[in-house]
Amino acid sequence: MILDGKALSKKILEEIKIEVQKLDKKPHLAVILVGDDTASRIYVNNKKKTALNIGINSTVIELPEDTKEEVLIEHIKKLNNDDDITGILVQMPLPKHINKDNVVCAIDPKKDVDCFTPENVGKLALGMKPYFYPVTPQGILIMLDYYGIQIEGRHVVVIGRSNIVGKPMVQMLLQRNATVTICHSQTKNLDDIIKTADIIISAVGKKIVRCKMVKYKSVLVDVGISRDANGKLTGDLNFSDFKDINEILDFVEAFSPVPGGVGPMTIASLMLNTLLFEHTGILRRIAKSGLE
Ligand code: NAP
Repeated sequence: MILDGKALSKKILEEIKIEVQKLDKKPHLAVILVGDDTASRIYVNNKKKTALNIGINSTVIELPEDTKEEVLIEHIKKLNNDDDITGILVQMPLPKHINKDNVVCAIDPKKDVDCFTPENVGKLALGMKPYFYPVTPQGILIMLDYYGIQIEGRHVVVIGRSNIVGKPMVQMLLQRNATVTICHSQTKNLDDIIKTADIIISAVGKKIVRCKMVKYKSVLVDVGISRDANGKLTGDLNFSDFKDINEILDFVEAFSPVPGGVGPMTIASLMLNTLLFEHTGILRRIAKSGLE
């Protein structure tokens, strides 16, 4: 089975649009971009475009590379106090002279749609309900749930221990009663650990998972984004030992492609967070209706 994040995300965004139309007060996402990083600019523009397409207001605040930390924090405080702004997102990475932790701590946890603040991350770790769940792990779980992938009781190997993907993914999987192993660059015998996984979630940015080596009928979720020798977008999963897509589909229970898997789900998940109410109703409706 292919985990088609592109189609599922499209459906979620359509449903959000319908819900937003019913709201008197539209959600308003503020995104702060500091500096000139090309990839960050593309991500920010995508978020703004997606929000506007579904009726969510969006403001991008662009600040120059040499912006002082205090100035950035002043902008955040203004957004915290602005009743019209319902979500705040500071695009990472920030320039080196800015302390990321100070910036993250300045965001009002009730507007922290990325789940970066210590209050939200702490609540997640304690098994309490944060104001928002982290977008990429939430998007992955929505996708696995939609495709009926069982999580409870299974051994999930998460590769990568970043604050935005690996660590919160582990917390959310534990809450779903998975048995979780987390790996990183210093992990010994990664291939042996991978072989024991029922589900692999790889968030590295290098072709690290030789899929012929994984357990038969495991689920492979590819978060990684990199470019191959020809400049083509690619993920962490290496399928080069397989003859064709049919051989892959015979071997795995499911896998998510890059592009078209986790990436679009991350955007849909961010937009769900930007809504001002519980979004379980939307997901239940989609589970019933399917993607058509
Ligand atoms: P990151 O900060 O880029 O860190 C990469 C992680 O991979 C680190 O934990 C690192 O270990 C680990 N790693 C590096 N080499 C390794 C190796 N040889 N074996 C095992 N682990 C290794 O992580 P990130 O921000 O989560 O991003 C990871 C990838 O996911 C990137 O390609 C990024 O573009 C992509 N991403 C995609 C989405 C999406 O929506 N599709 C969202 C977020 C990120 P150490 O901690 O030991 O350094």
